[in-house]
Amino acid sequence: MNDLSVQMTAARTLLRRFYGYDSFRAAQEPVIESLLSRQDTVAIMPTGAGKSICFQIPALMLPGITLVISPLISLMKDQVDALTEQGVPATFLNSTLSFAEAQERLKYIASGECKLVYLAPERLESENFRRKMAAFNVSMVAVDEAHCVSQWGHDFRPSYRLIAPFIAGLPRRPLMGAFTATATPEVKDDMVKLLKLREPRVYVSGFDRPNLSFAVLREKNKDAFVASFVQEHVSDAGIIYTATRKNAESLCDFLRQRNIRAGCYHAGLTDEERKEAQEDFLYDNISVIVATCAFGMGIDKSNVRYVIHYNMPQNVEAYYQEAGRAGRDGENAQCLLLFSESDVATQRYLINRSGEDEARIAYNLSRLQFMVNYCHTTECLRHFIINYFGDTAFPRECHNCSNCLSAKSKVDVTIDAQKVFSCVYRLNRAKINASVVMVTRVLMGSKDKRLLALGLDKLSTYGLFRSRERGEIKELVQRFMAADYLEQREGQYANVVLKSSAYPVLKSEAKVYLNLPQKAPSRARTPVKEPLTVDTELFEALRVLRKKIARQEKVPPYMVFADSALRDMCAKKPRTLEAMRQVKGVGDLKLQRYGQDFLACLMANSH
Ligand code: ADP
Repeated sequence: MNDLSVQMTAARTLLRRFYGYDSFRAAQEPVIESLLSRQDTVAIMPTGAGKSICFQIPALMLPGITLVISPLISLMKDQVDALTEQGVPATFLNSTLSFAEAQERLKYIASGECKLVYLAPERLESENFRRKMAAFNVSMVAVDEAHCVSQWGHDFRPSYRLIAPFIAGLPRRPLMGAFTATATPEVKDDMVKLLKLREPRVYVSGFDRPNLSFAVLREKNKDAFVASFVQEHVSDAGIIYTATRKNAESLCDFLRQRNIRAGCYHAGLTDEERKEAQEDFLYDNISVIVATCAFGMGIDKSNVRYVIHYNMPQNVEAYYQEAGRAGRDGENAQCLLLFSESDVATQRYLINRSGEDEARIAYNLSRLQFMVNYCHTTECLRHFIINYFGDTAFPRECHNCSNCLSAKSKVDVTIDAQKVFSCVYRLNRAKINASVVMVTRVLMGSKDKRLLALGLDKLSTYGLFRSRERGEIKELVQRFMAADYLEQREGQYANVVLKSSAYPVLKSEAKVYLNLPQKAPSRARTPVKEPLTVDTELFEALRVLRKKIARQEKVPPYMVFADSALRDMCAKKPRTLEAMRQVKGVGDLKLQRYGQDFLACLMANSH
């Protein structure tokens, strides 16, 4: 065996001992191998894919310590608590610690026992702190959420720019690892450049999360839908994202009035209020949290069973990151997006008022259009997302999204397409800025003043869809956009133009088919794949025990055992500690600390 395979065998032993897993996931293996070969490494993996293990295991194997740069102080304690629960020697240093606590931790680091030190990047501002770190044997620096270094990312943090000079000031350059779920080329290039990585190996793992099901729903009464969904999933944890603070508060009130234990989280609340809501959610005291996008980065709660977007988010990256907070434990979970036309205007408004420069606004508007397209595509939703991230070879049907699961058939819509394309063509030729609304108005034969003033009622396509409803026409235009026949150019005004695939249709050289639902889409389109069913009574009994232990230990229940571990216990029903050790997620320390209690609970509740 060569040196690397010996190291990988040792890595797997540590995985079993500390984490209770038998093998690395396919995407983890090459990243760990690369770091163990002492190569700077960039790993781009979707949320929930298991990034942390990729640096934690090498950290346990390398001499000295690994510094983990992590953006959220509020979550550092959780991250370190979770590691401590597993027996991994780790600590954190941030501004929440008193002088005496910090001294204590520095002593622990100096003792040589500690392997992982979590830091907030702001710490690097202090010269005194940098000097202290330089005195330790730093083998590796793992930059978590590394996209924060880039202005193009959605969470730019200027203090991430301090990392490269800090590394340059260390007596010996450590190995570098950069980890993120954000994969746009600009962000990737910035990570390499601004963190000064040396010939890094870059691993972009597949973006599919097979255990997540996706749905886009058009619900007239979103509040009622959410309330009944939450009530039907009362023992499951879920996140509901809204576009604005106002929406978050009013929806949360609506749920509470229906006796649903819901929490609220947004940037307008005090630190204290936010902390309380977050802890209530992590500790399973409440099952639902209604939040703006301010919530979630670094949230490791693994048993989130659904993420509902009450409003359409601003871009596909943000959507996939937020939706991806469901099902991190690998169990089935649902991601629902409740679309309404007004969401588009809200997001457009937010982008235009963001105070960013013109180029950035145009870029953000173009990304918004992809999100709108996602909500209108009649093809597989998963295919759409994964294709957006650059993997064009993903199968065209996933059989687990609302489009794949709805009863639909291929409909020849060539005539409609010709009418729409011809309308767009004429508006473009007349040099009229044609928004989707304007195209719709012309086709419906609107008497809108601006339209009449421009003489658009003289166009031959004026009123071609007179007998149809406005919403139906608009939806049709959006669907052609999602199907890549039209695109919206963003300038001062939005302008719909034809793409090259539209011309053969206009010339009757190509036909257009859309997968259209046979019946009115609604709840029937919610994907059916729910979490795996197990003996519910037994599962509940284990959950109660887990909660009791979590309270004693003062950690969130999912840190005692993930849902997936409890489910595996229900399936395997171990009767001895040795058998319990085979359960997924039961490492040595947890077996020793909780094994007996869970065995007793299994015996008492198995029939
Ligand atoms: P990310 O940081 O990429 O979002 P995490 O590191 O939080 O993901 O891991 C997500 C979940 O997957 C965690 O519950 C973790 O314990 C689990 N996990 C990671 N690696 C494995 C593995 N090899 N086998 C089984 N579960 C794993």
